[in-house]
Amino acid sequence: MPAGPQKYPGASTAQWWQSRWGGDPMEVNTVVWHSTEGTGLPDYAGGSVAPNFTALPDFDAQRLNWHQHFDFDTSSRALANKPGGVETNTLNVCQVEIVGTCDPAAHGKWTVRHLYTPELPDWALRDLAAFARWAHDQHGVPLASGVTFKAYPGSYGANGVRMGAAKWNAFRGHCGHQHVPENDHGDPGLLPMAAILARAGEATGAP
Ligand SMILES: [Zn+2]
Repeated sequence: MPAGPQKYPGASTAQWWQSRWGGDPMEVNTVVWHSTEGTGLPDYAGGSVAPNFTALPDFDAQRLNWHQHFDFDTSSRALANKPGGVETNTLNVCQVEIVGTCDPAAHGKWTVRHLYTPELPDWALRDLAAFARWAHDQHGVPLASGVTFKAYPGSYGANGVRMGAAKWNAFRGHCGHQHVPENDHGDPGLLPMAAILARAGEATGAP
């Protein structure tokens, strides 16, 4: 049995995909961040490409509402994984989708309130930091990144920051979809990871 609590306190399990899709047991040491490129809670094609968590903004309450789809230490499905090569979804990663966009073109076009990852409001940073803190305190995920988050669309494809196999296999901490090998997506763009981790560290006193 994986160590530590498997449910994030307060998260809704109304869209629980683990009963349909199973997943592999892991001991998570890495969080992979995504952005949904939409404004609502996705269906994730019936859960077939679902992450462990979705963070859905509530602009009136100025908070993120968390939806959990798989246990923290169970593999989810939002990464591509090619035959051979490295493991992705099952390599001890917990995946989080932030509902919003990393794409400046979408950000400029959308008329509904939405999160734009390079310009997150303070309450979103606060709630993302709280999740990182929980993953650190309960599961030992380092409050560290060590990779550069690039702005979309420069973060798409061969972006200069995507990890190679050895680096990916050894990685611990926080990265984005744009850093994962065998994948071409560029989300979550210029997510202010350093600010999120610094805030999470203030709360724990961790370095
Ligand atoms: Zn993604």
